Amino acid sequence: MSTEKNGIVYIVGAGPGDKKLITVKGMACLQKADVVIYDLLLNDSLLDYCPEHTLKIKAPDPRIRATRQDELNQLLLQHAKAGKVVVRLKGGDPFIFGRGGEEATVLVQGGIPFEIVPGVTAGIAASAYAGIPVTHRDFASSVAFVTGHSAAMHADSNINWSQLATAVDTLIVYMGVAHLSEIVNRLISNGRDKHTPVSLVRVGTTPQQTVVQGTLENIAEKVEAVQMNSPAIIIVGHVNNLREHLRWFDTKPLFGKRILITRARAQASEFAERLEENGAEVIQFPTIEIHPIKLRDEQIPTPDKYNWVIFTSVNAVEIYYSLLNSIGLDTRAFLTCQVCAVGPKTIAALNGIGIKPDFVPTHSSGNVIARELQNVQDKNILLPRAKIATADLPQRLRERGAHVHDVAIYDTLKVESECGDVILKDLLEGKIDIVTFTSSSTVRNFLEMFPEQNPKELLSKVHVAVIGPTTEATARKHGVKVNIISKDATIESLTQAVLSALTPRID
Ligand code: SAH
Repeated sequence: MSTEKNGIVYIVGAGPGDKKLITVKGMACLQKADVVIYDLLLNDSLLDYCPEHTLKIKAPDPRIRATRQDELNQLLLQHAKAGKVVVRLKGGDPFIFGRGGEEATVLVQGGIPFEIVPGVTAGIAASAYAGIPVTHRDFASSVAFVTGHSAAMHADSNINWSQLATAVDTLIVYMGVAHLSEIVNRLISNGRDKHTPVSLVRVGTTPQQTVVQGTLENIAEKVEAVQMNSPAIIIVGHVNNLREHLRWFDTKPLFGKRILITRARAQASEFAERLEENGAEVIQFPTIEIHPIKLRDEQIPTPDKYNWVIFTSVNAVEIYYSLLNSIGLDTRAFLTCQVCAVGPKTIAALNGIGIKPDFVPTHSSGNVIARELQNVQDKNILLPRAKIATADLPQRLRERGAHVHDVAIYDTLKVESECGDVILKDLLEGKIDIVTFTSSSTVRNFLEMFPEQNPKELLSKVHVAVIGPTTEATARKHGVKVNIISKDATIESLTQAVLSALTPRID
């Protein structure tokens, strides 16, 4: 008998594309996976939920070679038998045209414990994102999921087209784009009214979603005209008429816009989320990385030596606080000094460590901070911040008689990107709508990534959005034309500026 301890396999539905459409349970499985074996997904970023140690394996594709399903089965057995928590991640729902049943059978035969975690299937999700309810009290009381894969088209196929054509109100055909004409012909010849409305939804729930609508009689021609290919579902039935009233996703203000984010990946998520909520496709192209600077214990300035500590960014708060922690101090170290914070995010970060700032200036520029901070004459001021921060703030404070200790606690370093060539091509071909800069260093590093390019030409086909006047000045100094400037130096304000620039449309 084997002494090996068996692991477990979770066969998990990843949902249709929108990464938020995975279930809570599916996400929890990814968070504890030792191994994840994933199919070609519309959204690879789901894999980011896995812990660092997770082994990520792209599943061999059985559509390419039949023997691949055996290879895949072996992979599942091998890792489960080695005692691992294995996630088998599949698009949509694993039991709807997903071979989940076949794979579970292999696990049963191998004596491996498993669970099935359902997912939101494309037939439901892509329809919903197109504004088409698959059932409706007035229009459809039944719905069927059907495969349009070539095997289903053979004369001896086990799909009963002659009855299906008229028996079910809403038909949702998966894998059917390549056989669209045959499918509609079968439906019409088996008695379905040729005027029945039909929709095709391609890559539903993603920012690239496209919908073509017609009738059984003319849909093939319409789809041919726009050269739509898979993956798409075909929806047949009167419910399609509801899209006109219920369309909600592809009408979002930034839908169809591709927006490049250049800020550090660790800080990009909030901005990305705001843009995505408005329908944009976000392309992450980080140009900087934040690196805390190593200080020896005795080099770490402690708050008790100062009258004021000024924080100008979230990074400054987080990195300075972890420095204090590293020498055994915590929030109580701020007991005898006052704290100044610039910007709502910095205030929130301070609140997070239990500090309510004593003073918040009305603006983030160095001049304004120095002007508004009262009684600085002969005061000791600590300024823990980025190495490359501008000299305005300490200079102005010193002019007013303060003793300023400007300490570099982190550096923003340039990132080497692997996808620079793709981005360059997209920029030059106008396939990116907006490039966003959220600090001066993102502008400089971005331009340095394309040393051969003239900044004006590089960005001539896109709109450039910057986060406030300092970044704007840097951009202009480097010859970049700026189209969108946010009122305040915050992500909310920049998102707002992008939205108002694009409503109704930029041209
Ligand atoms: N198990 C999956 C289906 C796999 S079969 C599920 O439950 O969704 C692959 C087919 O699913 C594609 O050919 C296409 O018809 C459909 N499909 C998958 N994702 C889709 C999407 N985002 N939009 C439209 N159709 C999709």
